[in-house]
This record gives sequence, C-alpha cells and structure tokens, in this order.
Amino acid sequence: MNGRVEDYWHTVMSKIDGSGLRRELRDFSLGSSQVLFDSDNPMMNLASNNYLGLANDPRVCERAIAGIKEFGLGAGSARFLAGNFREHVELEHVLSQLHGTEAALVFSSGYTANLATLSAILGPRDTAFCDALSHASLVEGCRVVHSTVRLFRHNDMDHLETLLREHRDRGKKVIVTDGVFSMDGEFAPLRDLVFLAEKYGAVLVVDDAHANGTVGPHGSGTAAHFGLVDKVPVQIGTLSKAFGSQGGYLVGSKNLIDTVMHRGKAFLHSTALAPALASGALEAIQISIREPERRKALIANVSFLRSELAELGLKVLGDEGAPLLSVQYGSTDASQKAAKSLEAADIFAPAIRPPTVPKGTCRVRLAPMALHTTGDMQRVVSALSAL
Ligand SMILES: *Cc1c(COP(=O)(O)O)cnc(C)c1O
Repeated sequence: MNGRVEDYWHTVMSKIDGSGLRRELRDFSLGSSQVLFDSDNPMMNLASNNYLGLANDPRVCERAIAGIKEFGLGAGSARFLAGNFREHVELEHVLSQLHGTEAALVFSSGYTANLATLSAILGPRDTAFCDALSHASLVEGCRVVHSTVRLFRHNDMDHLETLLREHRDRGKKVIVTDGVFSMDGEFAPLRDLVFLAEKYGAVLVVDDAHANGTVGPHGSGTAAHFGLVDKVPVQIGTLSKAFGSQGGYLVGSKNLIDTVMHRGKAFLHSTALAPALASGALEAIQISIREPERRKALIANVSFLRSELAELGLKVLGDEGAPLLSVQYGSTDASQKAAKSLEAADIFAPAIRPPTVPKGTCRVRLAPMALHTTGDMQRVVSALSAL
C-alpha cells in the first residue's frame, strides 16, 4: 500500500518536473526587508508584498512584542470559545473606520477570510462568477459549498455579462474579483462590475489583498479609489501584505459580519488570530494612515518602472496607481531567463509561471517597496535593458 502511494506521489512530481514547473523553497532570512541577506552579497528584494516596509518597522515590532508579553503567543482557542481578545475587537473597530463600514471581522489569514466569507454567503443552488485570475482562495471558497462556479475571462465584462444572462433564473448570484490583480497589477473594472451586479441582482465581492494600505484615500482600497464604497457590499483584505503582520479581514454590514461569524466554518472552527499579530497590525495600520508618504513612494517607484520599461519596448502589464507591475515575456524559458539576469544583477524578482498564470503569458513580477529608492529602480531598468 505504502509503495503504491509513494509511486503515485512520484508520478505526480514527474509530471510537474516534465513541464519544468517544479518550485524550490529558497532560504531567505530577510525575506520581508528591502534587501535579502545582510551578507556581502545583498540582493534587492522585489518579491515581497511588504509594500510599505511595515513588517520590519521597529514601532510595529515593539507593539507586537508588547502584545506577546501581555497576551501570550497563541490565542488558545476560537473566537467564540475563549479566544476573543481586546486586540481583535479594537482591530475590527479600526478596520471598519478605515473602510467606512458598519462592521469588520478578522481571521487568521486572508486565505481563511476568503474561504469563510464565500462559503458563508453562497449555497449549493447559487452561482459564483469569478474572474479567471481571482485568487485561488476565492474560487476555493465558492467550491467547498458546491456552488456553481463560472470563470469569466480576466477583466472581460462582455464575457461576464454573457454568463450572467445564461444564469438569469437560478438562485443567488455572486460576482467575485480581486481589486488589484497580484500577477499583473491591473485594477478590476469596478464601475462596470458594479453596473453588471446591479443589472443582474448579483452581490459583488472584492478581495483587496494588494490594495488595502496601498490604494485609495488612507489606503482604504479599490472601492474607495473608484468612489464606490457603498456599491461593494463585501470587501475582503489581508493584514499580511501592506499592513506587515499576518491575518485577514472582512468589512461590510453588521448583518454580513454576523452571517460569516455563524456560517463560515473556517472562522468558527479555527483558532483566533494570535493577539500579538493583531497588536502589530493595529500599529501598522495607524502608521500607514499617519505616514501617507509611504504610499506615495511606493506608487512613485512602480510608476517609474512602468514608464521606463515601456520605453525600452517591453510588454509592461498593470495600471497606473497600482502597487506592482509585471513584464510579460510569454514562454516559461523567456521569463526565467529574465529573472535569472535580474538575479545576476543582485535583484530578486520571480518568474511567474503556470498554473499561477495562463500558459504563454509567463512574466516577471516586480513588487518594489516604499523603502526602495529611485536609484534602486534605475538599477532594475538597467538590468532589464541589458537583456
Ligand atoms: C495574498 C492573497 C490572499 C491571501 O492572504 P494571506 O493573508 O496571505 O492568507 C488572498 N487574496 C489575494 C488576492 C492575495 O493576494
């Protein structure tokens, strides 16, 4: 039996190897800072989602340490048991204020937030319409409760409308998208999504993992960026990216939050977010609001790369104002070659390959931080122009 199962796993990995898609875990002890390795060979880090540099901000770390001293390390149980800490409640208050919503709910990760939320608001007779490049956890959340899942072509509103029309008479309809797509730095066409949601009576869900803290007034996200906060009833975010901590969250009406608390199994049956991570996140959110220059520096870095790389004739993906961009090379080989030449120039930016992105659209994802300088960005341009 063991032999057979080992053979099976071996076959799985042979297939992955055969398509050149094996991934390696690399050892980065400074993975969230703007340079990797404090040795004689520092590498510029363009692979982290620590957009504002808050994961290693001393004030954030101090606050988390104080949290550990006061509350201990783990929460010990789920929120409805003994795991509801003052820090969770305060964090939810701050998040609902940031987003201008009635209520908020925090989770131990963004992945869990998506899983709990979608599985709570959907049922087996409902249909979810997901952008084909939506984060895996969104689609997973729709599938665990056996909803019908229809994928529409990335940001293709005609395709979405065709699918919505086909499902006119069935149960509840939910449209699901990322606010900013992590693999290309494009915004979702939120005005059109709101229009279609209203036209077909669908609920709009926006996952703002890359936009919270980076986009919109005070970093309040994509809906606020487009002036559509009241039109997006379900907004999900993460504490693990711009907010430098770990955890996820949902903001919306009190009824929505209550529903997810009572029906979202990934919330109900999982240990609460470690309270010290909530402490650190509280500090980071307050800093991100008080120091808007971080957001400005981040967006300026991305804008600089976008215009300089486009001038070189490269195929640059993403929208102005987004916190990251990608350069599309097409084949797996070409994108890996670009990533390797960056690495030769001591710049770390990963090649993004299937199944993360569709075949033939392999790319190098460039995610600078607020802490990187224009000189750093110039080095990236030089390295890519030498290719
Ligand atoms: C990172 C990410 C998540 C998951 O958030 P974690 O806090 O890392 O679990 C969810 N959605 C999107 C779009 C993401 O980029």
